[in-house]
Amino acid sequence: MNGYGGNILRVNLTTGKIAKEPTPPELARDFLGGRGFGAYFLFQEVPQGADPLGPENKLIISSGPLSGLLIPGAGKCDFACKSPLTGGYAGASLGGHLTAEIKYAGLDSIILEGISPKPVYLFIDDDRIELRDAASLWGKGAITVEKALKDQLGEEFQIACVGPGAENGVRYAHINHDYGRQAGRGGVGTVMGAKKVKALAIRGTRAIPVADLDAYRRAARNLYDACKQSELLKPWQNLGTTMVVSWCDEVGALPTRNFSAGSFEGGKTLYGPVMREQIVVTDKGCFGCPSPCGKYSRTKRYGTNVEGPEYETIGMIGSNLGIANIEDVAQINFLCDEWGVDTISAGGAIAWAMECYEKGILTKAETGGLDLKFGNVEAVLTLIPQIAKREGLGALLAEGTRRAARALGKGSEKFAIEVKGMEQSAYATHSATAMLLAYMTADVGAHHNRAWAITYDLQVGRELVNADKVARVIWLQHIRPMFDTLGACRLQWVELNIDLELYPPALAAITGVERSWRDLELVSERIWNLTRMYWVREVPGFGRAWDMPPQRFYAEPPKTGVTAGKITSLDDVNKLLDLYYEQRGWDANGLPKPETLKRLGLDKLVA
Ligand code: SF4
Repeated sequence: MNGYGGNILRVNLTTGKIAKEPTPPELARDFLGGRGFGAYFLFQEVPQGADPLGPENKLIISSGPLSGLLIPGAGKCDFACKSPLTGGYAGASLGGHLTAEIKYAGLDSIILEGISPKPVYLFIDDDRIELRDAASLWGKGAITVEKALKDQLGEEFQIACVGPGAENGVRYAHINHDYGRQAGRGGVGTVMGAKKVKALAIRGTRAIPVADLDAYRRAARNLYDACKQSELLKPWQNLGTTMVVSWCDEVGALPTRNFSAGSFEGGKTLYGPVMREQIVVTDKGCFGCPSPCGKYSRTKRYGTNVEGPEYETIGMIGSNLGIANIEDVAQINFLCDEWGVDTISAGGAIAWAMECYEKGILTKAETGGLDLKFGNVEAVLTLIPQIAKREGLGALLAEGTRRAARALGKGSEKFAIEVKGMEQSAYATHSATAMLLAYMTADVGAHHNRAWAITYDLQVGRELVNADKVARVIWLQHIRPMFDTLGACRLQWVELNIDLELYPPALAAITGVERSWRDLELVSERIWNLTRMYWVREVPGFGRAWDMPPQRFYAEPPKTGVTAGKITSLDDVNKLLDLYYEQRGWDANGLPKPETLKRLGLDKLVA
């Protein structure tokens, strides 16, 4: 099949059986690849009510039809499973070089099933596929393990591995790759750890069949030329996502002290140019990327090397914890990477604990003697390993903010900044209604990657609530995740502003199938509704209440910064949801209507 590896690999960890089956052409037609394959296999194959940490859950690792080809940033890999953090759909995207090797090994998806009786790593060298003993790697940090496997197997092998956080069941453990790129959200690493899989090591040497080589070359050149000619390339490459820090601070979107404000008085010390000057050593990019946003840094104070920190990490473990020094943020980032926990969820959980401590809800006896005030760097440096090992207060925070708040009680639930059980990523959404709606309705929980709508809020009026704003959020929720379906980076479109219409000719030349953006949007809408139906199936009583934002955003206006005193009313929150459900073809409780499922060809699949 042109553009595809051609096979699905199943690895039964319980029995040790390894088998390949051809990638079904109708699966490629209806779900394309990447995120689409992950959602399909999860819905079809993981039985209703499966324990996320049990043998019935599956970890589905998928490339897309653009992955591994000469398309800007064609290094995106999708990880899907039932989330141990939320109990619903988990889908996490990983950049780097792994997905290219998956394709070169002749694969489109790798499905990990069952649970291994002992720690293993999955070794793939084209057709040589083995489960190898990982006893000597178990217990070691994710960055350390990646280096050890590269030293042992050779640089050509691409490694994805988990840290102690995943081994110990932290509900937001990540999967590390390329020394600091992560499939971070929803506990995909936790599921890999529960399966006793420490790492994947993959090398492939096969060519990917392409339908029309000349047209492919032309389409690829057009894409790269557009990137090169973009006047936004230089500033983007210089700062990467950290260019957003100062902007967010100025517009009141920088999460500050558990999202109690959107501007940080110490913010300037975290700005991109300061970081570039103080700690960045070099730029770093994913497979085929013409605009590397990765920044590799070295801290003087701690003597550690780390990829990042990127914007989300700066927001969540910098300003959101009241920490104003970029070296400290980089060191906390390094600890999260090595111990194997998601910086966004860890930052959210610690910020919640800090607010509880400052309000006297969490006592010093309960923190194990830690003075958990906002800004206390030493306390955070102590807490990250504690979370990964589930020791002391870390055992509570390892459960994620929603579970931790329910366990602690005493009104602490209203400081839990999460939706559907996932900690909100780094945009303060006081009165920014499109971004608020994007977080409320994202299909994994409060994550920005599905629809980054904050710039649209600023463009049309942040407090505005109308059908056009809702339509924009839905459009973004279809276009942005389509890149995770195709297996390529969306940031050349988002940040360099290259024309979306440059992609369909490339996809057609590669696969031999013409697909317009209208057609691709329809595929995205199909996937969106399938993941929604997964929530409906797995979470008893699922509906509108799961789309409500944290109380803070409609009941507690910030006291400082440019958003001081501003809020989205509860009436407007409900109006946003009403408009959203109507435009999506869902009922008033947020459940897809039968005619919507039929229109998308999902009626039989979800029956
Ligand atoms: Fe990777 Fe950044 Fe390049 Fe995208 S822009 S491919 S995330 S390095």
